[in-house]
Amino acid sequence: ATPTALMVGTGRSAKMGILIKNGEVLEAVNDVKTVVFDKTGTITVGKPEVTDIVGDEKSVLTYATGLEQSSEHPLASAIVKKAENEKISVPKVSNFQAIEGKGVEALVDGKKAFVGNDKLLADVEIDDKLKQQVIELQEQAKTVVFVGVENKVVGLIAIQDAPKDTSREAIADLKARGLKTVMLTGDNQLVAEAIAEQVGIDQVIADVLPSDKADHVKALQQDGKVAFVGDGINDAPALTVADVGIAMGSGTDIAIESGGIVLVKNDLRDVDKALALSKKTFNRIK
Ligand code: ADP
Ligand code: MG
Repeated sequence: ATPTALMVGTGRSAKMGILIKNGEVLEAVNDVKTVVFDKTGTITVGKPEVTDIVGDEKSVLTYATGLEQSSEHPLASAIVKKAENEKISVPKVSNFQAIEGKGVEALVDGKKAFVGNDKLLADVEIDDKLKQQVIELQEQAKTVVFVGVENKVVGLIAIQDAPKDTSREAIADLKARGLKTVMLTGDNQLVAEAIAEQVGIDQVIADVLPSDKADHVKALQQDGKVAFVGDGINDAPALTVADVGIAMGSGTDIAIESGGIVLVKNDLRDVDKALALSKKTFNRIK
């Protein structure tokens, strides 16, 4: 590859809001077979909102907002905002602990409480009616968190994060190029499948712990080069392991550092534009 042609390619892309860190990245883009996407903040807007509360609303929200006060997770922001809107006063909280990929635990008003997914429910019983409600909400593409107090589930909170307007088109463009598209997420299988269906993603890998995202990318590399698109702290290892790491400009600093390409406009259609550009650049060089 001649340096001049590469510079022309990357200079033009920078004007389009696609920052390409070096020529090697551009070359790898040319051979990509699979594009893997994180869900929250990448395919979806990343601004989740509480849509349903099951149980005594005031009590459920009081515990949940106490627990989520100190969490930086997008789901936590949605819950805290809802509690503020409902003028819920924040209870006394101590011993806060975030549990990666699962939720949070703390003492709320002196009681052991938690909010998070079913991975936190090991010793907790839930009745069949509640289980059915969870499934119904998840099938509507809503993430459900359980609120528990002293080993009893006291309620559910359903949270929705809609796909970005352009996600469906972006994925159709990539599929039209013959690429395989995959969603890799820590969220629940039913929720992930519902979102995947809305945007046309081929394959879903759900319930993935943050520490396992990179291993899934490695497994997908058996079938050829992989591009990974993500935005979160938990996406950094996958962005590094992938042949092409693509970070959303709105992402965390560590994601942006780990990516070889940064999409400044946070528009997923720019993944396809980066591919088109690399094809053009390399055809010119040959
Ligand atoms: P993603 O791949 O969507 O970024 P994460 O690994 O951050 O997912 O989280 C996976 C799941 O863990 C969430 O869908 C949620 O069920 C649970 N979870 C993580 N952190 C929290 C929290 N602070 N409050 C409630 N649930 C949480
Ligand atoms: Mg994310």
